[in-house]
Amino acid sequence: MEESVTNPTETALLQPGTLWAKTTQQTQYARECGALKSIETEYQLIQQNDISFVVRSLSSLARKEQARKKQTETEHKIGKEIDPFLPYEPELFVGDISPSHICLLNKFNVVDNHLLIVTRDFEEQTDLLNLEDFAALWCCLQEIDGLAFYNGGKTAGASQRHKHLQLIPLPFLPNVVHLPINNAIANVNFENVFGRIASFPFCHAIASLALSSSRSPKAAAKILLQHYHALLNLVGFKIDSTTVNQRQPGAYNCLITRNWMLIVPRSQESFQHIPINSLGFAGSLFVRDRTSLKLLKDLTPIRLLQNVAISDEDFAARENSNQID
Ligand code: AMP
Repeated sequence: MEESVTNPTETALLQPGTLWAKTTQQTQYARECGALKSIETEYQLIQQNDISFVVRSLSSLARKEQARKKQTETEHKIGKEIDPFLPYEPELFVGDISPSHICLLNKFNVVDNHLLIVTRDFEEQTDLLNLEDFAALWCCLQEIDGLAFYNGGKTAGASQRHKHLQLIPLPFLPNVVHLPINNAIANVNFENVFGRIASFPFCHAIASLALSSSRSPKAAAKILLQHYHALLNLVGFKIDSTTVNQRQPGAYNCLITRNWMLIVPRSQESFQHIPINSLGFAGSLFVRDRTSLKLLKDLTPIRLLQNVAISDEDFAARENSNQID
């Protein structure tokens, strides 16, 4: 059957080749006018197995926490939730991506040029990603070589209910670390596209992507969506790929680069007051203070991740009892 010419994924609004310039210009402007509240960090590297974990101590995390607290207090006062992306702060607007998505600067960024790819209309962060999400994501990834990620629900580290993907440009730490899990990914034995990261002793699945940069967002989105559904099934989430805007069966992190896609189901938001989102599974961790840093070192980063993920044993038990929630 011939596809409709009005399919939104066919109409990219982003002028090709302009996203990086728009991002850096807007970052400069947002910084100058005070809209961008960058979080300063110190970092250290912790090598464990084949992963060079970047552990950042957030000296001004308080600023982000205060903003989140203020949001919650105001929500209580006015009796409804505040959506920081609808309306968004115009000073943080980078550009239109597609009929369904826009691109904003992350207001409380730890790394420079941290982008949010946000749905124009409200959609729940706990809805599964769809073709439009992947088309918008691919538009951005084609322009900026980076790590894209999605925190599927509060348990997976999401702080906002309005659906948003995120993109961090690579290298992660210029001249130090391109992407902390790069070596671990290089060691994956991709059999038939799918594989596992040997250093991750918990339920997860990774797929290699062979998408040439010349693919249109629509064509790339179809392939990304297929891999996403296959990975969700591999980690035990039974997905009906024909249902549109399906609610996610459980919390998970999704990480995507131009070369691979990784899914990690989650059991909890934090362990011993150390919060983990998708970036944790890319090898990037955040601690608030020295106590947390010591705890992390004693525990080791991989054990920390293991505690917020789902064990392979629990996955096997869920598979056997067919009770996936
Ligand atoms: P997450 O915490 O993964 O759900 O990502 C949401 C991101 O939105 C957080 O990293 C916040 O820093 C960011 N954020 C919060 N308020 C705003 C805002 N008004 N404009 C842009 N980004 C925001």
